[in-house]
Amino acid sequence: MPAKITEIKCKRCRNLLFTEEVSPSLTAHGQVIGAGARNTKCNSDVQEDCLYLAEDNMPDWIHEVVDRENWIRGKLYCPLCHARIGSFDFVSPKKCNCGEYVPPPIRITYSKVDTPHR
Ligand SMILES: [Zn+2]
Ligand SMILES: [Zn+2]
Repeated sequence: MPAKITEIKCKRCRNLLFTEEVSPSLTAHGQVIGAGARNTKCNSDVQEDCLYLAEDNMPDWIHEVVDRENWIRGKLYCPLCHARIGSFDFVSPKKCNCGEYVPPPIRITYSKVDTPHR
């Protein structure tokens, strides 16, 4: 059976942001969403529900943004319509609410993207 390709798209313009084959969506605890792990709201400072990406397998366009910001912190916008879809922070990691995990550095806001997870 071929692997299911999951596309994460910008909610506003439907631009493809990344596929989970390249960049698996992670929970705040760094677990791959869908592989037995449900999304968690165990976020440190976030009101909104988010998914996370690891720096090891972020999509190229996010890599470029992160490079441009010198791996510090910044916001992520859809490359096509410039809607804000998330943020990243490599310098001030905060533990999540349960105090056990540091969420992955790249954060994507659920309500800004089309994703099969919820
Ligand atoms: Zn867009
Ligand atoms: Zn937690």
